[in-house]
Amino acid sequence: MLHDDRWPRCPRLLPGESLSSWFARTAVANGLRPVELFRIVQPGGDRIPRDLDRYADDPLLYLLADRTGMDRDALVQATFRHWAGTVFAHDDGLNKLPWLPPAGRVGGRRCFGQQFCPWCLNADAAPYLRLNWRLSFVTVCPIHQRLLLDRCPVCNEPFSVLRMDRVQDMRCPSCAADLRHCTADTPPVDVVPVQQDLQRVIGQGWWTLGLHGPVYSFAALDILAVLVRLLAGGPHAHALRTWVGEQAPNLAVPPEAVPRARDGALQTPRARSVVIAMAHWLMGEWPKRLIEGARAMGMTSTDLWKRPKEQYPFAFADVVEWHLKAPHKDSNRDEMAAAKAILMRQGKPTTHRNLVALCGIKLSAMSDLADAASENAAPWGKGRYWKLDGVSPEVKEAARRAAHRAGEGVGPWLDGLLRRELGMPARKTPYACQSADTFADEFISGCAG
Ligand SMILES: [Zn+2]
Ligand SMILES: [Zn+2]
Repeated sequence: MLHDDRWPRCPRLLPGESLSSWFARTAVANGLRPVELFRIVQPGGDRIPRDLDRYADDPLLYLLADRTGMDRDALVQATFRHWAGTVFAHDDGLNKLPWLPPAGRVGGRRCFGQQFCPWCLNADAAPYLRLNWRLSFVTVCPIHQRLLLDRCPVCNEPFSVLRMDRVQDMRCPSCAADLRHCTADTPPVDVVPVQQDLQRVIGQGWWTLGLHGPVYSFAALDILAVLVRLLAGGPHAHALRTWVGEQAPNLAVPPEAVPRARDGALQTPRARSVVIAMAHWLMGEWPKRLIEGARAMGMTSTDLWKRPKEQYPFAFADVVEWHLKAPHKDSNRDEMAAAKAILMRQGKPTTHRNLVALCGIKLSAMSDLADAASENAAPWGKGRYWKLDGVSPEVKEAARRAAHRAGEGVGPWLDGLLRRELGMPARKTPYACQSADTFADEFISGCAG
């Protein structure tokens, strides 16, 4: 083989390194920015490289292997294809992969799929990103036992190694903060054993689910993702988290620890660590815990089917079909209207509480149709979830947006901010030993100017 085509410097893949990380290091070793090297290997391609961990195709990987002398298979194994058949069945490149969310900016949206452990980066002779940090059920560094970061703690921008100028010192591409000197919180629940179990599941390729026996790991992870979504947002999330906390006290966290999110993958590693540990617990003693939890919440198949039934893994569809089938499918709204009419004839207020008492079951249609308990109160579920008397509406709105950018609920975000401003220690229980701050003090003062 001719070696003339090789680039002058060809760093080796480091243990567990992702392709995008290796690509960025290769660019820098040859005096280029990752974006510049990408334009050389993909002339006429996108101006900003797409996520190489997912989208590097065979021609590109073969070209990179030829130019660097790296083994092609080793490069393939540094991409998401490493998990084909275990974390996902196959990747058509179009649909979302439940456990491998996009990284950086995609179509102008901030995507937090690239996580990192600042301590690992700091300890590396040559800082590099681990492929495992892309998996969204990995929320804690098993070595340092701290939550991973998924955004720059200074500017809250997502991290993308392909947008960096220099990889040696791992700086945020947006504000140049040195990510090796960030610090991260301890997780609110002990999620490391859960992570280890999920790694074991994808290692062996199946998950044994009680009566349903061994289920392909990608199908079982699909069920886990459904449960994570139920716990992350939607009408039952709050109550279901409380119920799980009562059954498994080691998972009890205050409700505000987990800001509402439609999609669990969009949550910060801290919130994700909680809902993933809870969803994993719900899958234990399959399907007993799921059925008990769903019944305790008054959840039925109407709440659980969000896509056509046949698109769910059999183990899940079977449980919902047999144990949680809604008694009167699709007629909840009519039922509620009738229940309201009964209450009105009896001269009783048509509040959420009275509807539940009358029907003996909680249905999502109640939230829409129930009236407020008093004239001054907001309708059910529409109340302000935080208030600060005397604070101007524009500050409230700005605070709401800032908390959202940081991936927090307004309450915990404001609490952390005020504690820092007032020089108060971080909130203790139930986040024992946890810093409200995600940055070392010297770094904050160094950045203030
Ligand atoms: Zn680490
Ligand atoms: Zn930044």
